[in-house]
Amino acid sequence: MRPEILYPVFAEISSLKGIGTKTVKLLNNLLGGNKIIDLLLHLPSNVVDRSYRPKLKDAIPGRICTIKATVVEHIPPRSRNQPYKVILDDGSEQITLIFFKIYADSIAKNLPLGATRIISGKVDVFNGRLQMTHPDYIAAENEAYKIPSFETIYPLTAGISTKMLNKYMEQALLLLPNLPEWLDEKFVKQHEWDDFKSALTHAHNPKYKSDLEPYSKHISRLAYDELLANQLALAIVRERVRKQAGLVIKGNGLLRKKLLEKLPFTLTNAQKNVLAEIYTDQADAFRMLRLVQGDVGSGKTIVALFAMLNTIEAGMQAAIMAPTEILAKQHFETIAPLCDDIGVKTALLTGKTKTKERKQILEDLSLGKINILIGTHALFQDDVTYKNLGLAVVDEQHRFGVHQRLSLSNKGNKSDVLVMTATPIPRTLLLTAYGDMEYSKIDQLPEGRKPVDTRVLPVTKLSETVAALKRKIDEGTRAYWVCPLVEESEKSDLAAAEARFADLQKIFGDKVGLVHGKMKEKEKDAVMEKFKNGELKLLVATTVIEVGVNVPEATIMVIEHAERFGLSQLHQLRGRVKRGINPATCLLLYSYPLSETARERLNIMKQTEDGFIIAEKDLELRGGGEILGTKQSGFANFKIADMEYHKNLLVIANQDAKLVINKDPNLQSPRGQALRVLLYLFEKDDSVRTYKA
Ligand code: ADP
Ligand code: MG
Repeated sequence: MRPEILYPVFAEISSLKGIGTKTVKLLNNLLGGNKIIDLLLHLPSNVVDRSYRPKLKDAIPGRICTIKATVVEHIPPRSRNQPYKVILDDGSEQITLIFFKIYADSIAKNLPLGATRIISGKVDVFNGRLQMTHPDYIAAENEAYKIPSFETIYPLTAGISTKMLNKYMEQALLLLPNLPEWLDEKFVKQHEWDDFKSALTHAHNPKYKSDLEPYSKHISRLAYDELLANQLALAIVRERVRKQAGLVIKGNGLLRKKLLEKLPFTLTNAQKNVLAEIYTDQADAFRMLRLVQGDVGSGKTIVALFAMLNTIEAGMQAAIMAPTEILAKQHFETIAPLCDDIGVKTALLTGKTKTKERKQILEDLSLGKINILIGTHALFQDDVTYKNLGLAVVDEQHRFGVHQRLSLSNKGNKSDVLVMTATPIPRTLLLTAYGDMEYSKIDQLPEGRKPVDTRVLPVTKLSETVAALKRKIDEGTRAYWVCPLVEESEKSDLAAAEARFADLQKIFGDKVGLVHGKMKEKEKDAVMEKFKNGELKLLVATTVIEVGVNVPEATIMVIEHAERFGLSQLHQLRGRVKRGINPATCLLLYSYPLSETARERLNIMKQTEDGFIIAEKDLELRGGGEILGTKQSGFANFKIADMEYHKNLLVIANQDAKLVINKDPNLQSPRGQALRVLLYLFEKDDSVRTYKA
């Protein structure tokens, strides 16, 4: 139940004066919501100081001036391309107003001869005379108040002007009630912060550019509020999961011993360490909620398998969920043979599993005849019942949202959850996305992996590249060729990829295949399959090749327009060719113009293969929102907080949230009640609702 005090700001924007249906739509796109709170959290990007009111003779060219003067002459244009000029005089000097493409009537109306007007805009000098082109404001003396001394500028969209937004914002701010203080009193004092309402009101009425900076007093307060809401919501969810008594899983080690004997390699120290952490979690009486990070190829699958075997030794079932059909199948292909060898029953369940087979699997599963179920989110549909699910593993987790993660952990009631991600996540982002979920790092690759020979080339070297590629492919190598896909122009990018495919077909004939995002899953799978079994030697792809796709024979990765990709994406793509024993090559082809950051990204790719370093650099270069390809990433998208500047506040918010949850787990104290308002304000209703459940 949303607190009553917030009703006014959760009313629809359309309830404000002067907003029609068309404007509502535009605002909805701009704000990502249709409520007054969405408007209120849309902060200014700039401020125009109109408080400079010189006499004309003193006006400094290039500055925004607000001037009071009398209209002394109209000079209509003599041809259509000429501007309409109006001359004003303030007793000290004259200024010429310049209007292009404007109706003479409206000028006659707004600037009649002999009238005194207040005008505001940028003053310039032309041929030794003062002039102003299209003043921002023209007002009669009795309407001077309509010209703001400090005009707030907002990020806009076509059809929504600064004047409109300011008008709406003014109304919206009046609707904002005084809210109870949810921050610690001492903390607020120490930072000399104002309360939420005045901070927000000030943020919308800046005087100087510095008032808009992330470190400024009011913005800091608002950013902290947003971060605290995020951290508190995560802490609540985590607490809920942790509070439930968990399973005590302590296997006898027999299956794991058998597997170790079968494996053609020994575990790396990093794998052993992470497993020790997992076993400890499994053995204690709480529910495990652990994230395992490991670079591509660091051997996460094997780690997951050992954790699952521990579960099975203890008489329970395990499940592993991958984000796509292909990846689920791949896991099955890796895990099933190893399990068959040691007498562990596995099955694959995806959206494509035939009805009859599915029925059988579900029956076996509920009887406990299946030990490990591998699949996509089909694993957690309502009619799937486990006999006793002890461990749920989620692979390549960043494709899943927070909610999926939760629905999955609810399936087994008390089952442990192990999340694996191949994209190293910087610490700050970890906090925003997972609160302080326990986490482990596999920070070492198996021995004998050779570094990828990474080269950065201008696209002008394309024909040499193709020639070299041809030699390699004739020798039997397999290669990927990736063309970028930019969302806004999916069509033209697809066209570019198809054109590239056609070019390459002329050279490689039927050895080259194409996969792109517009293909049906089935067609995509068919092409991937051909590439896997070697019928195709060269695979042209538009979108990012499925994360985790495993084709050990592929050792060359060509990335066209590498300058358009983010660092993490480039790193993931390069990881595709690190799967085999043969040395791999990655060719990054770039085109001009090459921005400073793009150049830097390509350099970093040349310098390091360490995913953790790359993730940190990516965050530095791009900011948090973009790091994993934004929307589906499940990472919080902040409206006010900016990870580049507010890292410190995030860390404090994290601790603050922890303290609150320790002291007042049900948010009952006065501060707790106020924090509920905060959670609703930032639309973290979900987590508040968990109190009811
Ligand atoms: P990830 O899922 O982390 O990308 P995988 O689990 O798919 O990595 O492992 C990549 C490859 O490395 C697999 O072929 C796997 O059998 C192999 N592998 C895993 N652990 C080791 C190890 N300790 N020593 C050698 N090879 C290993
Ligand atoms: Mg994997």
